Amino acid sequence: MKTRETAPTQPMTLAFDVTVSSIQDLSPNFRRITFGGYSLRDFGVSGDTLDLRIKLMVPSLDNAGQQIPLPAFNMNQSGWYQAWLALDPARRGSMRTYTVRGSRLDSVYPEIDVDFVMHFDAPGHVNQNSGPAATWAQHARPGDALTIIGPNNRAAQCRTAETYGGIEWRPGLAERVLLAGDETAVPAISAILESLPSYMSGHAFLEVPEAGDFQDLKTAADVDITWLPRGAAIGRSRPHGELLQHAVRAAVPVPGWVGIKAADGGAGPEPENVNVDRDILWETPARMETAAIGASRNPALPAGAMPFYAWIAGEAAVIKDIRRYLVRDVGIDRKQVAFMGYWRQGKAEG
Ligand SMILES: Cc1cc2nc3c(=O)[nH]c(=O)nc-3n(C[C@H](O)[C@H](O)[C@H](O)COP(=O)(O)OP(=O)(O)OC[C@H]3O[C@@H](n4cnc5c(N)ncnc54)[C@H](O)[C@@H]3O)c2cc1C
Repeated sequence: MKTRETAPTQPMTLAFDVTVSSIQDLSPNFRRITFGGYSLRDFGVSGDTLDLRIKLMVPSLDNAGQQIPLPAFNMNQSGWYQAWLALDPARRGSMRTYTVRGSRLDSVYPEIDVDFVMHFDAPGHVNQNSGPAATWAQHARPGDALTIIGPNNRAAQCRTAETYGGIEWRPGLAERVLLAGDETAVPAISAILESLPSYMSGHAFLEVPEAGDFQDLKTAADVDITWLPRGAAIGRSRPHGELLQHAVRAAVPVPGWVGIKAADGGAGPEPENVNVDRDILWETPARMETAAIGASRNPALPAGAMPFYAWIAGEAAVIKDIRRYLVRDVGIDRKQVAFMGYWRQGKAEG
């Protein structure tokens, strides 16, 4: 945790040049890469990092699997993103979203940990369609350089998780929580669980490729943690999201009166359709506050004043189905749930 003088004119985010300090294979499908650099002294929010997201500017690889160094580029100037997009796509690298799983920012040499899901289609065999970030992680070596875009801890707005846009976990006054996600959400759910106070209770469901990917998670809260392994054997693996959907349905059942009353079978409104092949599914209480999407069943109740809060992230089509179930069938107020499509099957980010 940092305590610093704040300057309101500081930018919210900064680009941080870092190098790989170490690489650790946590399990068959998770690789932890630790990034270090003195620039990280200016990185971070003042509280727990929770589900803090960052952008990684990942170098491209040439035909021999060698990294093409990122072009010299000032990502701290305004309008940098459009200028970066205009560069040669084969050389400028790719921008991808990841979670800060851990950090040691007060150390002499500050570091952050990022847990990469490896895109294997069989144990140890990288998927032919694996994207640049997972492929980069597969080839990474200590000393490799990369740029991270993340929160500037000198910016006044970054001083709490409640006010920094890169953190979605906002349970408000809720004491009962539901966390559900696939492997890409494991880093965020793990960091959130570590931060929870003992008075919180609920469930956490984590769907992962196989039982070897279970991790020993720590929490002071009374939250039941359930790992859901799809199964590694080729042809015997459960479809992505199936176990997660069943788990959420069992934990949050449809109210008993729904079948009696509603001819159309729903306790709440039909949520707006999101075409996950074209659009990003990202519906969180924070975004609803600013976008005023409406459709709240109880608009008089301020967001954050409810006893139950859910945080759900993973493959977009799976999250869309869970959203429809919770909003329409169960009738949960959308101010109580963050629904986040972290990636899309068959689609590259960006
Ligand atoms: C807020 C946020 C936080 C995230 N945190 C993490 C994190 O901490 N760790 C992490 O590993 N991921 C995380 N993700 C997901 C990650 O950004 C995506 O998986 C991303 O697509 C990976 O980039 P890529 O270059 O490897 O693949 P892309 O170029 O984006 O995609 C190439 C192909 O790979 C497929 N693909 C992408 N992701 C997966 C996957 N997980 N499994 C199988 N196929 C896949 C795509 O469908 C596509 O066909 C996060 C996403 C968001 C939005």
